[in-house]
Amino acid sequence: MRLDDFDPNAINVEDQRGGGSRMPVGRGGQLGCGTLVIVLIAATVFGVDPTQMLGGLQQGAPVEQSAPAAGGSTTSESCTTDPLSRETCNALSSLNKTWEPIFRQAGVKFAQPKLVFYSQAGQSGCGAAQSAMGPFYCPSDQGIYIDTDFYREMESNLGAGGDFARAYVIAHEFGHHIQTLTGISDQIRSAQQQRPNRANQLQVRMELQADCYAGVWAARNRDRIEPGDMEEGLKAAHSIGDDTLMRNAGRRPVEAAFTHGSSEQRMEALRRGLQGSDDSVCDVYMQ
Ligand SMILES: [Zn+2]
Repeated sequence: MRLDDFDPNAINVEDQRGGGSRMPVGRGGQLGCGTLVIVLIAATVFGVDPTQMLGGLQQGAPVEQSAPAAGGSTTSESCTTDPLSRETCNALSSLNKTWEPIFRQAGVKFAQPKLVFYSQAGQSGCGAAQSAMGPFYCPSDQGIYIDTDFYREMESNLGAGGDFARAYVIAHEFGHHIQTLTGISDQIRSAQQQRPNRANQLQVRMELQADCYAGVWAARNRDRIEPGDMEEGLKAAHSIGDDTLMRNAGRRPVEAAFTHGSSEQRMEALRRGLQGSDDSVCDVYMQ
């Protein structure tokens, strides 16, 4: 995917990596696939902890756009630490540019999420961040948290590589931000409290909607899509389906335990967004 270079004044980035000298971490080699699968599942559960879904929307959390990132480094420095950071900032920038007008048109207040880079361990408004948890969105501070080493693990352990697959990860987390801004997260949270036996099912719907929103973003940037991108995204969506993750972990897929949807469902959700380009195509998951 050919994305424009990020505009440091149009994105909100926090860097918890400190010092700018990143330690090379060979975790990809040490982490067995099963381990990653378990931590991915843990991550996804963490990412949507219903107790953390309060607050963000009411405060509207205005974003300080030009403030230097925490730890003293500026947005430009944080985003150019390495090619994967740059790519992540470019994706964030494109996501903001794509969604802001959609919100404006719908008359819903838009606030940028912040992108938080951390290495191995960090702090989020939802508690400690561990790279083993994978990327996640924290509703209470409206932050997308990522240790870019995850991309390498995604490629080596899940076979999901490529720039579009990586952008899809950020676009999916951005989808959760959209759900926070629109109030869907809150609605799901109350529904889950009222019907605990349907909590997982509701969770799956929310995740699929985030996949669908990722597709809408890509569809709106169709002219930037390169040959192979769609396949890459769909492959990534497949590789992180609950049934595939469970099978990879040596477990029999049990639908009742799904939190993100099956590989088929996730691919379908992304495809729906890709084909639709209007965000209303993703409403289906909340009906
Ligand atoms: Zn998610």
